[in-house]
Amino acid sequence: MSGLVERLVVGLPEGAVVVDPAVTEAYRHDMAGFCASGAPAVVVFPSTVEEVQHVMRTATELRVPVVPQGARTGLSGAANAVEGCIVLSLVKMDRILEVDPVNRIAVVEPGVVNAVLSRAAGEHGLAYPPDPSSWESCTIGGNIGTGAGGLCCVKYGVTSEYVLGLDVVLADGRLLRTGRQTAKGVAGYDLTRLFVGSEGTLGVVVRAVLALRPAPAPQLAMVAEFATADAACEAVCAVMAAGFTPSLMELMDAVSVRAVNRLAQMGLPESTQALLLVAFDGPDPARELAAVGELCEAAGATDVVPAEDQAESELLLQARRLALTALELLGTTMVDDVAVPRSRQGAMLNGVAEIAERYGLTIGVVCHAGDGNTHPIVAFDADDPDEVARARESFDAIMALGLELGGTITGEHGVGLLKRDWLAKELGPVGLELQKQMKGLFDPLGILNPGKLF
Ligand SMILES: Cc1cc2nc3c(=O)[nH]c(=O)nc-3n(C[C@H](O)[C@H](O)[C@H](O)COP(=O)(O)OP(=O)(O)OC[C@H]3O[C@@H](n4cnc5c(N)ncnc54)[C@H](O)[C@@H]3O)c2cc1C
Repeated sequence: MSGLVERLVVGLPEGAVVVDPAVTEAYRHDMAGFCASGAPAVVVFPSTVEEVQHVMRTATELRVPVVPQGARTGLSGAANAVEGCIVLSLVKMDRILEVDPVNRIAVVEPGVVNAVLSRAAGEHGLAYPPDPSSWESCTIGGNIGTGAGGLCCVKYGVTSEYVLGLDVVLADGRLLRTGRQTAKGVAGYDLTRLFVGSEGTLGVVVRAVLALRPAPAPQLAMVAEFATADAACEAVCAVMAAGFTPSLMELMDAVSVRAVNRLAQMGLPESTQALLLVAFDGPDPARELAAVGELCEAAGATDVVPAEDQAESELLLQARRLALTALELLGTTMVDDVAVPRSRQGAMLNGVAEIAERYGLTIGVVCHAGDGNTHPIVAFDADDPDEVARARESFDAIMALGLELGGTITGEHGVGLLKRDWLAKELGPVGLELQKQMKGLFDPLGILNPGKLF
């Protein structure tokens, strides 16, 4: 792109503009490497808001597409570069500007890693609850971009519930401040929420005001084994209907249990068809676990084993966090993210098993079961065109099933490139048209993360 690099270096410090293809190639895609991607013309690493503004002004003047990136742990291709774009990596803007225990907020730059913020909040007796399994590497900017969830969302909610205000650099370089840093506030349209889950298509988040909560007590967990996924899902319904609010309720199927054992020798029971992990962090977790254990047995659990202590509980959580990485041992993976009403989760899992059989593929399943958020993970051989085609078809069949059951195509990973064709089906023509008009309002030239979402 003629003059692009020369224009960029004028407003960025030495080393912040990288054109060496050996380096830029590494910024080509997120964890959905099988989705289409293009070669970036340049990768930039701004450290200040003004530098981000300079990048966006330059991009607008030269009509160059810009793809914002965090840690590239995304699973839907939303951070994939497009040919000739500027990759705008926010990882160097990684300062925690403030942790304020009185107002229970943190003010952070977008490149702060989720776990780093959690630990910083912990030093003040506070917590930042949204905890994707990738929390040791993913960034707050990426979490806001995707509207990330995690393991403890069943009790504490997802990213959108914690973002109070944002500073956003718009496509033309203007700086927009949205939201508030007060406990309450309803002035005007809620642009803050609009940006959460917008996948870098409306603006570049450069500062976020996040709500913190008092740090909960350490969790105590138990594991229940079931002979069918259906029975495990019945137990989930029984627990929720009885009024319990676990701090975590996760399901792992037999395929994922075996994969985790293979990766980390965890010694999880392999004879089970579904493993339900449940935890509580209230004042008397042992009592709540005992009651939930009885509900699991009534739903058909073949074994219920409470963790002996916090260390054992943490080990169980660790096993669940490893599931996605472990399933990658089975081949290239397409990670689905269909959320259904909790009461339909059994039907969803039975349907996924039927789809796996129909297409002759291995599909491991983990779920944020308390949220009805299923992650069927299709493993395939990327070098076998027939298997690639079947993987894609089975992936689509899973989304169709989710919508049929009253669900959504994505509970937390976002649309990106992977689910672009399905967004229209979920939104309907009116919803889609309005969303496209909104995109046009913020980014009239269509330079911000083009091709994502729509
Ligand atoms: C092992 C593993 C486990 C995972 N577990 C979970 C889980 O439990 N829950 C969950 O929700 N996700 C999970 N994920 C997916 C992923 O970690 C999340 O989607 C995460 O939010 C992405 O953060 P990131 O920093 O890597 O962002 P990226 O992947 O780099 O970007 C994600 C999106 O955000 C946009 N973006 C990034 N920064 C900005 C910014 N500053 N301004 C505007 N847009 C921006 C990008 O353009 C892109 O659209 C997992 C991934 C892996 C690999």
